[in-house]
Amino acid sequence: MTRVRSGISAIALVAVACGGSRAPADPPAAIDGPRLQWGLVLHGGAGTITRESMTPERERAYRDVMTQALRAGHARLQAGGSSLDAVVAAITIMEDSPLFNAGRGAVFTAEGTNSLDASIMEGSTLRAGAVAGVGRVRNPIALARLVMERSPHVMLSGAGAEEFAQLQGIELVDPSYFYTESRWRSLERVQEQERRARENADTTSALTVDEKFGTVGVVALDRNGVIAAGTSTGGMTNKRWGRIGDSPIIGAGTYAGPSCGISATGWGEYFIRNVVAYDVCARMEYRDVSLREAAHQVIMVRLESQEPETGGIIGLDGEGNVVAVFNTSGMYHGWIDQDGSVGIGIYAE
Ligand code: ASP
Repeated sequence: MTRVRSGISAIALVAVACGGSRAPADPPAAIDGPRLQWGLVLHGGAGTITRESMTPERERAYRDVMTQALRAGHARLQAGGSSLDAVVAAITIMEDSPLFNAGRGAVFTAEGTNSLDASIMEGSTLRAGAVAGVGRVRNPIALARLVMERSPHVMLSGAGAEEFAQLQGIELVDPSYFYTESRWRSLERVQEQERRARENADTTSALTVDEKFGTVGVVALDRNGVIAAGTSTGGMTNKRWGRIGDSPIIGAGTYAGPSCGISATGWGEYFIRNVVAYDVCARMEYRDVSLREAAHQVIMVRLESQEPETGGIIGLDGEGNVVAVFNTSGMYHGWIDQDGSVGIGIYAE
């Protein structure tokens, strides 16, 4: 199995068809999307996602929800809405679907509960909002936006975040809303692995990358040239001790600046240690490299050298160049341009 995986052939083909140009210095392995005047790019999680493990029905279901999410974001932008509006609209669709590890389809903690994280950032102002460890908020991305817009803080957690949600009139649900049979079975599988690992005195293997994919993220560029990025997740199956991943951490799982926006997915501990989302944007600025080159350096070189199959990112730059780079066998991702053309990809090859 080849270890170099980045982007999706569907996107590459459309990019070529649209005349997407490739600077000679850019890495050949990185595949990017088209150049948007305005639009958005999304991911629905990275991990061991192979053609062999996929059924046509399942693939169609993922493609349908991603397309709906892209169209919802596009509609907001078309109506003159901001990139923040588009990020929230698109992520809300995926949070409401049981397919993704965010909102309704969130994975279970070791205690059999759901603990959701989300963040959002606006590139032109560097305003940001995040929530971590909430268990009753139907749409954590909407709450993250309210933290940004209606509180003096950037990140709220747990019971305090839910109290803030109540004050803001955000929809709270009974925790049973987040129960899905497939996520429950994942928990059972991981706990079984954990039992076996304990017998072998292995403390790390119980947090498998494979049982947690499905985090969602969106980066949008609006008609005013403003970039916004957001990410929402249930985290990792079988997480415990109030574990928080990279998704709600500004700079790690989400970052937006004036000319770069990133949302990440993968093994959160690595994304936190490497400050991945910010690192991609900072490399563009400090090293004067393209978004594709910066994304490639961080995901395919830096992360990959620390731990194979760590995850991936989607991103947009100020010129509307789209990127989707991952070092796993798959990452659900797609984009929509100003004309409403949609591209969706899943597998590395
Ligand atoms: N990054 C998320 C976390 O570690 C999980 C994922 O993206 O699949 O919480």
